[in-house]
Amino acid sequence: MSDERTAIVIGAGIGGLTAALALRRIGMTVCVYERAPDLRRAGAGLSLAPNAIQALRALDLDMEVRRLGTEVEFAEIRSWRGACLQRLPVGELGRRYGGPMLCVARPELLGLLANTLGQEHIRFDYECTGFTQDDSGVTARFAGSAVERADLLIGADGIHSVIRCHLLDDGRPRYAGYTAWRGMAEVGPELAPPGLAFEAWGHGARFGLWRIDSARVYWWATSNAPEGALGEPGDHLQRLRELFHDWSAPIPAVVEATPSAAILQNDIYDREPASRWGEGRVTLLGDAAHPMTPDLGQGACQAIEDAVILAASLARSTDLPAALRAYETARRARTDRIVKRARHFGRIAQWENPLACVIRGLTVRMTPRRVAERQFAWLARFEVPVAENWLACREL
Ligand SMILES: Cc1cc2nc3c(=O)[nH]c(=O)nc-3n(C[C@H](O)[C@H](O)[C@H](O)COP(=O)(O)OP(=O)(O)OC[C@H]3O[C@@H](n4cnc5c(N)ncnc54)[C@H](O)[C@@H]3O)c2cc1C
Repeated sequence: MSDERTAIVIGAGIGGLTAALALRRIGMTVCVYERAPDLRRAGAGLSLAPNAIQALRALDLDMEVRRLGTEVEFAEIRSWRGACLQRLPVGELGRRYGGPMLCVARPELLGLLANTLGQEHIRFDYECTGFTQDDSGVTARFAGSAVERADLLIGADGIHSVIRCHLLDDGRPRYAGYTAWRGMAEVGPELAPPGLAFEAWGHGARFGLWRIDSARVYWWATSNAPEGALGEPGDHLQRLRELFHDWSAPIPAVVEATPSAAILQNDIYDREPASRWGEGRVTLLGDAAHPMTPDLGQGACQAIEDAVILAASLARSTDLPAALRAYETARRARTDRIVKRARHFGRIAQWENPLACVIRGLTVRMTPRRVAERQFAWLARFEVPVAENWLACREL
């Protein structure tokens, strides 16, 4: 089916690129505008849960994404001393709900999405500064006075979204009270066996580890800290050494194996769920719509789900504003719940009080496996909508 409709996507992150692919899938003409001079090359790993793999399957990308990473069979929550508090067979559970649990290198995932879309559909050095809309279309304005016009505009411009600011004007995101570091390191299977991911909990700090491939692992670490308090990039390794030197193996060795220049640090933010994400021909997607703390590893997964549901809604209706509102309604309940759960989980995981941490450890250890599995299942399931013209669209 041919489709004359055009779309502007602001932001070439995982959300924006997946949205552009999904919109092309239903035959729309799409261009992504990114403020950076090229695709983000820096970046650590990313866990993709079965729900994201199912959403990628709707775009015929699941097998290629699976080739980028390594599947996880078991995920553990550990104490900082290394005692296993909970072990979940996420591989088996994921397959039951339709997809594996995966860890990939984020720059490689971005590269795959951008190449599949085609670099000619992405314009770099385009910083969106605002938009106006009328009955016949929407006009995006960019720094340096460029303007572009299309039938609709998707704000996939991340947690500090300019499009959200113009739509909702709801202030700054909320600081979660802790900061996070991420890195990749070359670490062998003797330190990090394939198929086993873990997250270790201390007092106001955590450390997580996933294997990306036979050579590389992805790790992330957190620590309670005042907003903006952390030092220069050159100080990260030293700070991590101080925080994690006495944690259980393989944590100190993984920190030491990481090149200092490759460590990223971000303060962690989210927002209260908003009661609306759009207006007329404009909507939001990914972190611009529902920024969440990374505690459930779902931010990018939800952006990928958004992209598929957005395209399915647009495929079903010729009334663009109505299709955008239908997408928002379809997505809000699930993402609101995940934002709240991630915040709750993160608060508990960042507890500092030693007694509270002992009680937390006992509670996690005693949580029945079926309860933990039910929580996993709720996140892992994603029903892929089959729009009438979804597969009948023109080739990418
Ligand atoms: C420590 C940490 C660990 C995480 N781990 C995971 C995980 O394991 N699994 C998971 O699913 N999620 C994880 N997340 C969350 C995930 O990173 C985000 O949810 C996801 O990247 C959001 O994608 P996005 O495309 O919506 O936004 P972004 O990735 O932020 O992309 C937005 C893009 O828009 C561009 N942009 C911004 N403003 C403008 C503008 N005005 N004009 C043009 N372009 C603009 C930016 O340059 C950027 O390229 C983690 C997050 C953190 C902080």
